[in-house]
Amino acid sequence: MSTLARVPDVDVQDATETDSVGGVRPRLVARPTSTEQVSQLLSAAAEDDLVVVPRGRGTKLRWGVPPRSVDVLLDLSGMDRVLEHQAGDLIVAAEAGTPLAAMQDTCARADQRLAIDELVPGTTIGGLIATNLSGPRRMAYGTMRDLLIGVTVVRPDGVVAKAGGKVVKNVAGYDLGKLMTGSFGTLAVVTSAFFRLHPVPETSTWVSVEAESPSAAAETVRQAVHSQMVPAAVEIDAQPGRPTLVSALLEGTEVGVAGRVDQLLRLWGDTAAVDTQERPRGFPRESESQALLKLTCAISAVPEIAQAAVDLGLHVRGSAGTGVLFAALPDGTPPKTVASALERLRERTTAAGGAAVLLDAPPEISTAVDAWGPVPGIELMRRVKERFDPENLLSPGRFVGGI
Ligand SMILES: Cc1cc2nc3c(=O)[nH]c(=O)nc-3n(C[C@H](O)[C@H](O)[C@H](O)COP(=O)(O)OP(=O)(O)OC[C@H]3O[C@@H](n4cnc5c(N)ncnc54)[C@H](O)[C@@H]3O)c2cc1C
Repeated sequence: MSTLARVPDVDVQDATETDSVGGVRPRLVARPTSTEQVSQLLSAAAEDDLVVVPRGRGTKLRWGVPPRSVDVLLDLSGMDRVLEHQAGDLIVAAEAGTPLAAMQDTCARADQRLAIDELVPGTTIGGLIATNLSGPRRMAYGTMRDLLIGVTVVRPDGVVAKAGGKVVKNVAGYDLGKLMTGSFGTLAVVTSAFFRLHPVPETSTWVSVEAESPSAAAETVRQAVHSQMVPAAVEIDAQPGRPTLVSALLEGTEVGVAGRVDQLLRLWGDTAAVDTQERPRGFPRESESQALLKLTCAISAVPEIAQAAVDLGLHVRGSAGTGVLFAALPDGTPPKTVASALERLRERTTAAGGAAVLLDAPPEISTAVDAWGPVPGIELMRRVKERFDPENLLSPGRFVGGI
């Protein structure tokens, strides 16, 4: 502990129960305000063999597998500055603890945005990169991997590394940005990032239509995904005993969107309509005590996978246009039932070229199920982890295969 306390000007406090990560309570919380302080803290922690887990705003810190242990929670929320916005070049840079919404506010002044949906309010950009967050607009704009053009990270031994952005200096040949995306805080701590921006479209309109079930919605989905209307998103929302809703998002100029909306209404028929009120687009659950799964598959298999989830009693919602669905089990489902639903859906999604993972659940469930399932390429992932964090001091056990 003493080494940490010697890092100048950093707020280091005893942790409380609210700082727990998936039920594992750290001993200390350190709040750095610069990359340099992160570097000093990590090298001091490494000297004492202390296990560190980074936190953004902690909006979903229990997602993924709980870490095996935590000594120090590295709270990045004090690193919340938008560093620069070059509107002419459609680029923005911000510190890792910056809430996505704050960065979007800055970009909005020039009618620009990072084209990533904020499904979990309060998400920071570090947490967003670490969990590879994306929502409906992924269909048109891609994921973090496509929009992140540079990162500054601190390795567990305290070494600062930069890639992309304005400083083109890759580390040992790795594409750092791509490695960090979805790494769950297991490789290095992101301290700042550069993103590619898009202009905010003049107008955005959702058009929706109902079908009896996900299977019955297959043709509707296919028409939208393969249409000339170039939707920015095609979403599906289905649950037992309710009609299935298929929605498409059309974005662009007023005139262009009006024409494409008309075309889509004609294609989908009389029951299709422009959405006049906001519909829920986030995760399909009312409470965080419900287990939440992520199901991925080939786009053509979305209706079949959504049907399989509904047949198991789940509420499923997500992108029919990219094959990424979220599914929630009813509140109070016992861990064994969650595990068997996950296994059955894993068989179906694997056969359809995708995967099924447990994203978020109370610890009594997340510790009782195989959250990630089998992962191709696990040996390669282990070698990357070994290169970045040979002592296993950063978020141990959070990621697939106990990484
Ligand atoms: C597998 C998976 C897929 C997900 N997919 C989606 C999705 O498609 N859509 C969606 O809306 N949400 C998704 N989420 C959840 C969402 O990404 C998180 O709720 C959100 O990103 C949390 O942001 P936060 O700023 O509150 O970070 P926190 O909850 O504080 O941290 C989230 C994770 O990132 C790590 N982390 C935080 N900051 C840093 C940093 N600076 N450097 C390194 N690691 C850091 C943390 O250790 C933790 O593992 C997913 C989560 C998981 C586990």
